Amino acid sequence: MGVDIPQCIVVDIPPSFGPNIGVNMNIKEAKAIVGGLSNTSKMPGYGYGLSAFDCAVGSKLRLIKNSTCSMCYALKGRYTFPGVKNAHANRLEAITKSNWVEAMVLLINNYGKKIPYFRWHDSGDLQSLDHLKKIVAVAMATPKVRHWLPTREAGILKAFYKEGHSLPGNLAIRVSATMIDGKPHSNVGLTSTVSKKEKPIGYSCPAGKQDNECKSCRACWNINIQNVSYAAH
Ligand code: SF4
Repeated sequence: MGVDIPQCIVVDIPPSFGPNIGVNMNIKEAKAIVGGLSNTSKMPGYGYGLSAFDCAVGSKLRLIKNSTCSMCYALKGRYTFPGVKNAHANRLEAITKSNWVEAMVLLINNYGKKIPYFRWHDSGDLQSLDHLKKIVAVAMATPKVRHWLPTREAGILKAFYKEGHSLPGNLAIRVSATMIDGKPHSNVGLTSTVSKKEKPIGYSCPAGKQDNECKSCRACWNINIQNVSYAAH
């Protein structure tokens, strides 16, 4: 399967994001603006999550048997606790704030000094084209950090490309397959699939064989790996 979407440095750098980004706030203020980052034991580095209950495509997919969202871990357990739900609601509201990009850049550059890998949406998904553009702006302003963003929102990504943009080389956006054992999406750039009965497609995620952790693997962040296949739980 070919990669139809070129991945290169975007040319339309937002004028407000220059070398002085992040000088107008400190870490504590940045955390308060974005609602904090997450730090799971499975992944290297820090991540960020929204509520899976606010996924647009995912909310429809989770009702479909054998869809990759039908087994969503982010709709149960601790994700249903009132404190977590409140935190997600605050983060969702925050993405529309004018200083959200600046705050995310400050936090990611700060925490990325130690482990330069960042995972977007360990729960939840893209909310809009504007949301995606802000994430691209964050990636561009944090060039020493590699970003991975899994998504079901192929339509938002296609709208981004249709406007003539491309992604920075440090941002791997992987569109997840619709169905377990289904084929990867085409014409959307990088992808992921979930295998249960069928053989894995492309790179097979080794997490299941290594305590459910990434350990030294960074395949999901690697823009040279077209498809990553995860095992269905
Ligand atoms: S493929 Fe590698 S980086 Fe991606 S989730 Fe699996 S172990 Fe982690």
